[in-house]
Amino acid sequence: MPNSYDPDQIIRSEILALNAYHVPPATGMIKLDAMENPYTLPAALRQEIARLTAEAPVNRYPDADATLLKTALRKTLHIPDEMAIMLGNGSDEIIQIIAMAAAKPGAVLMSVEPAFAMFRMIAAFANISYVGIPLKSGFSLDQDTMLTAIAKHQPAVIFLAYPNNPTGNLFDAEVILRIIEATPGIVIIDEAYHAFADASLIDKLTQYPNLLLMRTLSKLGLAGLRLGLLIGRQEWLVQLEKLRLPYNVGIITQLVGKEVLRHADILLAQANAIKLERTKMHDELAALDGIEVFHSDANFILFRVADATRIFQELKQHGILIKNLNGTHPLLINCLRVTVGTPDENSQFILALHTILDKPV
Ligand code: PMP
Repeated sequence: MPNSYDPDQIIRSEILALNAYHVPPATGMIKLDAMENPYTLPAALRQEIARLTAEAPVNRYPDADATLLKTALRKTLHIPDEMAIMLGNGSDEIIQIIAMAAAKPGAVLMSVEPAFAMFRMIAAFANISYVGIPLKSGFSLDQDTMLTAIAKHQPAVIFLAYPNNPTGNLFDAEVILRIIEATPGIVIIDEAYHAFADASLIDKLTQYPNLLLMRTLSKLGLAGLRLGLLIGRQEWLVQLEKLRLPYNVGIITQLVGKEVLRHADILLAQANAIKLERTKMHDELAALDGIEVFHSDANFILFRVADATRIFQELKQHGILIKNLNGTHPLLINCLRVTVGTPDENSQFILALHTILDKPV
């Protein structure tokens, strides 16, 4: 037996080259960095969750098909009857399943840049080539460049978030449809932020045989539960289901998810409150000198300042955690992303920003 082991000799070079997805510590901070819903559930519903959890047969494996939860999702999210559903431990896991399934030698997974960082990272995990097409300035889809890249790379999979993270905008639906038509592979529309946008491509599913749609309960108020779903034709999902680990959605997630979905009106009311706060926050940011604010259809706002890294650090010193995107993409130079929190959290954020910006450097 050798007396020393070298990970560099064993682990794939693509993995050695990756930086782990960094989750910054946030204890005691006003946490506006991760697009969580800041509101908790009402006491009566939490009591019911406590009861369900106490009585859950955790000694048994959960229902591998999560039948009751899927029925509740189908009803609440108005999923067309002819479409199948696959559940994931968060939508992250669904992205991974799709990437693994499509990772033939030479296959390409395509997305846009900047986009959700996990599209690129998961492509590396699954050993599928990644091609990222830059958005135009203003963060719209570059139709010509996309169509040329599709013709050249013949992607097996395209991921587009609608609205996009970290930019917050909805892409032009007409351009998305042209991309779907031009693609030899599947296009996954990731509607993680659907609750905050007034648009969806769900009613295009029946029309486009290579279109799949992804949703998550994370941004709606259940990030800790870990539940994402993929909606699409049976012929695709039957194949993807083969890669889903049998018990990926635990019994607590199934029971609590189903119960909270019975009260979806609460989550939707919270989403509406977040949308109202988003407008207020947008206007307050826009009123500050030296800030460029971008329109958002999601539960976060992207904005540009003169020195993002300094402002990010100073906000941290004020106990406020947001996301610094400076250095992640040329279109995001000096950009920061703030999640919309409670009115009180947002006021504290705006106040801190005032203090920091008024202070001479
Ligand atoms: N898609 C997008 C566009 C996201 O921004 C995120 C989370 N930041 C996810 C998917 C993953 O969400 P989850 O795994 O919590 O469902």
